[in-house]
Amino acid sequence: MNAIDVISKKRDGGQLTEEEIGFFVDGFTKGEIPDYQAAAWLMAAYLQGMSEEETLWLTLSMAHSGDMLDLKRVAPFVVDKHSTGGVGDKVTLVVAPIVAACGVPVGKMTGRGLGFTGGTVDKLESIPGYRTDLTEAEFKSQLKKIGIVLTGQSADLAPADRNLYALRDVTATVSSIPLIVSSIMSKKLAAGAQGIVLDVKTGNGAFMGTLAGAEALAGAMVALGNRAGRQVVALISDMNQPLGWAVGNALEVIEAIAALHESGPGDLREHCLVVAAEMLQVSGKAADPDEALTLAIDALSSGAAWHKFRELVEAQGGDLKCIDDPEQLPRARLTQAVAAPRSGYLASTRAAEIGEAVTDLGGGRRKKGQAIDHSVGVIVHYKVGDLVQKGTPLFTLHAEDKAGLAAARERILAAHAIGDDPVPRPPLFYKRIAE
Ligand code: URA
Repeated sequence: MNAIDVISKKRDGGQLTEEEIGFFVDGFTKGEIPDYQAAAWLMAAYLQGMSEEETLWLTLSMAHSGDMLDLKRVAPFVVDKHSTGGVGDKVTLVVAPIVAACGVPVGKMTGRGLGFTGGTVDKLESIPGYRTDLTEAEFKSQLKKIGIVLTGQSADLAPADRNLYALRDVTATVSSIPLIVSSIMSKKLAAGAQGIVLDVKTGNGAFMGTLAGAEALAGAMVALGNRAGRQVVALISDMNQPLGWAVGNALEVIEAIAALHESGPGDLREHCLVVAAEMLQVSGKAADPDEALTLAIDALSSGAAWHKFRELVEAQGGDLKCIDDPEQLPRARLTQAVAAPRSGYLASTRAAEIGEAVTDLGGGRRKKGQAIDHSVGVIVHYKVGDLVQKGTPLFTLHAEDKAGLAAARERILAAHAIGDDPVPRPPLFYKRIAE
């Protein structure tokens, strides 16, 4: 077998065998198959598509390209969640403590921002001292001790995906359902959780713009996860406007802390309760959706979820003073409230534009490895369907310099459309997919 045969078979629409896919992934991971051959193979797979079987083998080969965490000795059932990426998505910060406070261990390796979407690792690093580089031993010991871990992805986890993803990013081969499925699920399978809840975003602030695309992606991930022996449920959720009010790392941590104290935006609270309830059901902690929701609500209202979050931050070296008094989290030098230019109903927002504006303020990266500014961002004051009053603040910017502030102001103003007619509020969720 050689790399050229595998590339040409895929190029001509053939079905690759488990051995051929394993040979290719293994050779690429060891550096024996160079980037240019991997890039050619990716384009062939992108154009020809991949069968369910091929996608499963690709996923398993990538999962096994590095460490496979075995958490069975650490806890009887560990549950994980994954969002496909959105704007203002701070759900993990709220949901993980809720679920862990209900007695279900949550061990999660999470990512940095990608494009205009934020990442949980970046948000957590707004908390001074918080470590996102736990070793495997630290991960397991903390999970056993306090039942919750939120850390960055270890370099040894699915290295084939890391290298292939970097190539996809620069060869226009990201937006392929089988390649996305295998990329996400290889990391999830290697991270060891037995139950996985996928939050698949759709809309103008998501990688999957259409509901049909999100459904196809969600269905493929659920089917693959179940075939790989994990319990997987996917929720398809709306990402046509930021989730909650805050976009930007420290601002989102502040909003998550508010949610853990039962205040803050209603859409965020509801979204988190639904995801937490799914995780509780997947784990078997709750027998039905009503019981799961009651457990999740109780964990919030009793303060148990907040205490679990404090335990998490303390265990990972974060400064508790900053979460007990979120005013002490990084704050931008300049803030400016931007007034609504007219009255009417908020008809739409372009969430990706808001994410891009925050990235330009320094809240995200334009280059690999770039340092980010945790303090900057925006708070939106209206949600789609709200009645807006001219002259009242439409959003508030947090920026480090005047030029950045002015650019973000124009971009985010243009991302809001206000009309005369009432507009229905978009649903939070469109669909639940389970096998
Ligand atoms: N997130 C991933 O981890 N991989 C993809 O391919 C797309 C989004």
